[in-house]
Amino acid sequence: MTSLDIKDGATTTGGLNRADIVHYRQGQATLTVRRTYCKGCNLCVDACPASILALDDDDKIYVTDMSRCIFCGVCAGRCPDFVFVLNTRTQYDEGGSQ
Ligand code: SF4
Ligand code: SF4
Repeated sequence: MTSLDIKDGATTTGGLNRADIVHYRQGQATLTVRRTYCKGCNLCVDACPASILALDDDDKIYVTDMSRCIFCGVCAGRCPDFVFVLNTRTQYDEGGSQ
């Protein structure tokens, strides 16, 4: 299974995202997209309030402009196939209660 990291704020196209799993980064936060599970139903595309989700030529989902993601979690809530995993932990969270 292939994976790809998209760095902060990168604008991407479907052609760049043929990987099975893509980790989109925005600061400390990550939106992981497990494209291999995507069935191309469009539910998340219609639901995303930032309008940054699209299907590529293979009917697999990708993020067009990660800098505009607001980490609302609507995509994860809508997708019936568990494609999206949000991780919004910060360095402070990871440091515990010290
Ligand atoms: S977390 Fe919200 S803004 Fe970001 S891709 Fe998902 S639905 Fe769109
Ligand atoms: S809701 Fe899930 S299965 Fe449907 S297009 Fe979006 S990522 Fe793919």
